[in-house]
Amino acid sequence: MRIDLHAHSTASDGTDTPAELVLAAAAAGLDVVALTDHDTTSGWAAATAALPPGLRLVPGAELSCVSPDGRGGEATVHLLAYLFDPDSPAVVEEQTRLRLERRERLRTMAARMAGDGFPVDADELMAGLPAEATAGRPHLARALVRAGVVSTVDEAFARYLATGGPYYLGRTDTPVRRAVEMIHQAGGVTVLAHPFARSRGPVVTPEVIVELAGRGLAGLEVDHPDHDAPTRAELRALATELDLVITGSSDYHGTNKTVRLGQETTAPEAFERLLDRAGADRVVTR
Ligand code: AMP
Ligand code: FE
Ligand code: FE
Ligand code: ZN
Repeated sequence: MRIDLHAHSTASDGTDTPAELVLAAAAAGLDVVALTDHDTTSGWAAATAALPPGLRLVPGAELSCVSPDGRGGEATVHLLAYLFDPDSPAVVEEQTRLRLERRERLRTMAARMAGDGFPVDADELMAGLPAEATAGRPHLARALVRAGVVSTVDEAFARYLATGGPYYLGRTDTPVRRAVEMIHQAGGVTVLAHPFARSRGPVVTPEVIVELAGRGLAGLEVDHPDHDAPTRAELRALATELDLVITGSSDYHGTNKTVRLGQETTAPEAFERLLDRAGADRVVTR
């Protein structure tokens, strides 16, 4: 059984359409794949319609959240949410708000770069995004690659777009405690995405994770490309201590990142534990 519980499509900042993504998952030999676009469920229908026989689809999302970091500061936290009711009014309202804010933010980032003489056009960038898609920095990064400003998406982040970089703008993300509650009320289950991916910026302390576990957080994404071996060992010990489910996932973004689908996987027993805590009947099969 090969299970990958974190992948992005063109519904957010991946480069495969939802249909291409499920076909790529089958081609990669996966038995289970989760579609977890940033702040949207808009890819679920197309992924479901294209689902090949034998592949199970876990509909999900990766929610942009913020949390006290446990050291007196704040940290950006990504919360993987699976198998929730996509029509839950609280979920729809928060995702709609964030998607609108993300669009304005990306437009402003592009306009600032254009104002400084970079060959990008904010209107053109925004017009090129699928109407329902969640806008993110990778969209601007690709525009910079197309314009020849940088040669890779990674370089665009390193030079201009990384958190704290010269053209970085923040967002009003959802308080993570609220997001955990919101998803549980919508019948879903939550897993903290890449909790100790320290190269991305400040991360939360173990104490914050203890608190979230007390509020119903189900698991930790331990095996993630942004975690090195010592970090995985640290997280695995914490998850075991708190009886949290340990997951592994690629965080596939198509050609926007170098990771492959199924590069990291989740054990079948761990997946079963997640299903026990959520609407297992929301897993899509054909
Ligand atoms: P945003 O959602 O606009 O804050 O942008 C964050 C997204 O950018 C993440 O979900 C990743 O997909 C992507 N990302 C972050 N850092 C990098 C990087 N160094 N290279 C490529 N993609 C990145
Ligand atoms: Fe992303
Ligand atoms: Fe993430
Ligand atoms: Zn992700």
